[in-house]
Amino acid sequence: MQASQHVPFLCPAGHRLDAGNVIVGWSPCVCPPCNNRGRGLRGHRTYLCLPCKDEHVTTKCYLPHHVPAQGADYRWP
Ligand SMILES: [Zn+2]
Ligand SMILES: [Zn+2]
Repeated sequence: MQASQHVPFLCPAGHRLDAGNVIVGWSPCVCPPCNNRGRGLRGHRTYLCLPCKDEHVTTKCYLPHHVPAQGADYRWP
């Protein structure tokens, strides 16, 4: 399962999100890419960049990439 552990992107600040540089988490979501996944898989794997955290910047990457639903523009009650 090594391949699925590979994180194929850099954080926006250019840090490689290698093991040891990242805290992997989970964020439930129902955006279209998540909705296409199976039951119980609707969410993003989140990668929190630790080098950024050292610089007091919170950089979180999402896999699959988060795509806001069409027509779900910011709308406040
Ligand atoms: Zn970073
Ligand atoms: Zn999402």
